[in-house]
Amino acid sequence: MRLKLFITGLVQGVGFRPFVYRLAKELGLKGYVLNSETGVIVEVEGDDSRLKEFLLRIQNEKPPASRIFSLEYKFLEPAGYTDFEIKKSKKSGELKVSVLPDLATCEECLKELFDPNNRRFRYPFINCTNCGPRFTIILSLPYDRPNTTMRKFKMCPECYREYTDPSDRRFHAQPNACPVCGPHVELYTEKGKVAEGDEALKLVVDMLKQGKILSVKGLGGFHLICDATNEETVKELRRRKRREEKPFAVMFRDINQVREYAEVSELEEIALSSVETPIVILDRKNGTDLAPSVSPDTDTVGAFLPYTPLHHLILRDFGKPIVATSCNLTDEPMVVENSEAVSLIGELTDGALVHNRDIARRCDDSVVTVMAGKVVPIRRSRGYAPLPVLLPFSLKRSVLALGVHMKCTVAVAKDEKVYLSQHIGDVDNLKAEEFFKETVEDFLRLFDVEPEVVVCDRHPGYFSTKFGEKLFGERLRKVYHHHAHVISVMAENEILPGEKVIGLAFDGTGYGADGTIWGGEVLVADYLCFDRVFHLLPFKLPGGDRAVKEPYRVAVSLLEELGVNPDTVLGTDKKKILFVREMVRKGVNSPLSSSMGRLFDAVSAILGLKEVVSYHAQGAIVLEQVAGKSGFEGSYRFEVLDDGNIDWRPVIEEILRDKSKLSVSDIAMKFHNAVVNLCLTVADRVREEKGINTVAMSGGVFQNRILVEKLLPSFVERGFKPLIHQIVPPNDGGISLGQAVYGGLC
Ligand code: ZN
Ligand code: ZN
Ligand code: FE
Repeated sequence: MRLKLFITGLVQGVGFRPFVYRLAKELGLKGYVLNSETGVIVEVEGDDSRLKEFLLRIQNEKPPASRIFSLEYKFLEPAGYTDFEIKKSKKSGELKVSVLPDLATCEECLKELFDPNNRRFRYPFINCTNCGPRFTIILSLPYDRPNTTMRKFKMCPECYREYTDPSDRRFHAQPNACPVCGPHVELYTEKGKVAEGDEALKLVVDMLKQGKILSVKGLGGFHLICDATNEETVKELRRRKRREEKPFAVMFRDINQVREYAEVSELEEIALSSVETPIVILDRKNGTDLAPSVSPDTDTVGAFLPYTPLHHLILRDFGKPIVATSCNLTDEPMVVENSEAVSLIGELTDGALVHNRDIARRCDDSVVTVMAGKVVPIRRSRGYAPLPVLLPFSLKRSVLALGVHMKCTVAVAKDEKVYLSQHIGDVDNLKAEEFFKETVEDFLRLFDVEPEVVVCDRHPGYFSTKFGEKLFGERLRKVYHHHAHVISVMAENEILPGEKVIGLAFDGTGYGADGTIWGGEVLVADYLCFDRVFHLLPFKLPGGDRAVKEPYRVAVSLLEELGVNPDTVLGTDKKKILFVREMVRKGVNSPLSSSMGRLFDAVSAILGLKEVVSYHAQGAIVLEQVAGKSGFEGSYRFEVLDDGNIDWRPVIEEILRDKSKLSVSDIAMKFHNAVVNLCLTVADRVREEKGINTVAMSGGVFQNRILVEKLLPSFVERGFKPLIHQIVPPNDGGISLGQAVYGGLC
C-alpha cells in the first residue's frame, strides 16, 4: 500500500525533510517528500505494518524544532516508486496557509499549566505558537492580534516581551495571554455570577461531583458536561436535551484512562492523540462504571481527549470521564454566546462556565472511526477546518459549493485546493440557515474567492438550492446528490479527470434524475457525467419524511407489496398500521424511493429492532450492531434484473421465512452479507460490460463497518480497485467536495 500525508506546521527549514528521508530509508519505504506552498506532502509505500510505524514515528520522533499543526493522511494504491527522494519544491518554500485550524494544547504548555512555579499555573488560556485557538478567533486576515477576538486584551509587559522576542516560544503567538492581562473564566448559576478564576473551576468540579449539568465554553462553542459515570445525571441530561438515545461523546483525562473504558487499536490511538483531537468511535469495554445511558443502544463510545487548557484542568481536577456534548437545543446550532449559555441555566443546565474571549466562528468537534485499517471521518470540523483538501489536478474555475441539507458543509475551491467548511449541520431551522449564510460569506472572504461557478444540489426544496438560485442566477450549476457523493470519493482518492468508475452511492435520501428519491444507486461515472446502471427497485415511502423517523412505515410498504399482512410482522399499533396501509394502497403522500438506507431501516423494523427511531439512521445502526454478534456466513439474494432494477423482494420474503428459524443476529448478518454480495455482483456485471475496474463507495451506508470490512478484501480479491473515504465523510458532510470538483471542471 501507499501512504500519503499532508502535513502543515513548522515543518520547513527545521530539518523535517531530512528526518522524513532518514525514517523512510530506515524502514525501507519508497516514495518522496515535497515542500509545497500549503505544507509538506509525503508519499511512502511498502508493507502495511511499516507504513503504520512510519505514521507513528513521524509524530513521535520529529525534529525538536518542528511542530505539526495538522496531519491528514490516506492509504492509496501503490504507485510503484523505486527509491525515496526529496523532491524539489515547485514554488518558493514560503508557506501560504492563511488560516490554520485550532490546535490542541501542546506538551510544553501543559507542563507549565501544572507547574506551581510557572506564572501561568492553572491558567485556562495558556497557549503558544504551537498550540491554541486559530480558526475560532480569527475575525479577518492577515492573522494578527488586532484581527482576532484577542484584540480587546492588551498584553502586559511580560507577555509583550515574549510576543516580541524571536527566541521565545510565544513570539507572535496571537492569542498570547496570562492571568494578569488575558481572558478569565466566570461561573454562573441560577443565583447569577457566583465565582471567577480558579474559584469557579473548583465549584465546577464540586457541581460535577454532585451530579449537576454544566455548560462550558470551549473553542468553537459551548459543551454540555456532566459526570459520565453517573447514570441518573446522564439520564437527566437526555431528558433536558430531549435527546433520547443518540450516543453522547465522552472526554477522558488521558489515553490511559481511555484504555480503561475502551479497546484502542494503534490507528485509534494515533487519531485520539493527534493535534486534531477528534472524537474517535471505539469499542466499549464491559464492566466499567460508564453510565449505560451514555450510549444506550450501541457497544461503542465516542471518546476524545482534552484539547484546551480549560478541559485539561477540569478533567484532572474531577478525575473521572465526563460527557461532553454540544450545547444546543434540539437540532439548533451549538451555543457560542455567553448570554445564551447563561439564559439556558435552569432549562438545560445547572450552571454555565463562561469566559470573555469571544468565539469568532462556531466549530463543532470532529468525529472519526477506524474501519478496514483506515480512518474514516464521520464529521470533519474542529482541528481540520479550514484546511484544504488537495486535488491531484487543477480546477479550471473557482467554485463555491453550497452542500446539501443534512450534515451540511460548504466549500470554496480554486486551483488544486478545496477548502471545506466546518460542520454546519442540518439546515432546517432559522438559526441553522443563518449559520449557513454566515459560513458562505466567511469562506468567500477568508479565501478571497469570487466564484466563477456556484454549485448546489438538484433538490428544489433545499434551503441551499433556493439560496443559490436567489443569489447566483447565471453562475449556478446543479449536480445530482449521488453523483456528487461519487465525485467526492473519486477526488480524494486522486482519480484523474476522464477516468470512469463504478460508483456505489448508498444512503438515505437524495433527489434523483427522475424526480424520485434515490439512495441505492449504482452509477458509471466520471467527474462530469453519470449513467444510472442499477438501482434498488423503487418502493413507496408512506408519509415521505415521516418514514425516516418511523421506519415501520417503510416496512408496511414493503410487506404490502409482498401481500403480507403487516400486523403479523410488526409490533406497532394496529390502527397506525392500518392508516399507513391505506396511504400505500391509495398512493397518498407516498413518494417512490430506491433508498438503501430506508431498506436497512425497514429490515430493522421487520426484525422488531426499531420500528420508530429517535435519531438519524438509528435503525440501520442497531441492525449493524446486532449483526456484529453473529458470524453467520449465509446470504440472502437480491435479484439483479436486466432492466437495471435490483429486486429486494426475495430478500424480504426469505427474512420473513427465517424469522421462525434463525436468531435476529443471524438474520441481520445474513442481510449484511446479501448487500455485500449485491455490491460484488453489480460490480462484476459493470466490469464485464464496460471494462471498468475501480469501485467508488460513498453515502452514509458506507459508515457501516461490517459492510466495508467485508467489501474491501472481497473487491481486492476479485481484482477490483475499491475506493472509500478517508479525508471527508461518506455521509452528506462530504458532498461539498464533490460539488466543488464538478463545478471546477464543468
Ligand atoms: Zn503551546
Ligand atoms: Zn500577560
Ligand atoms: Fe447522501
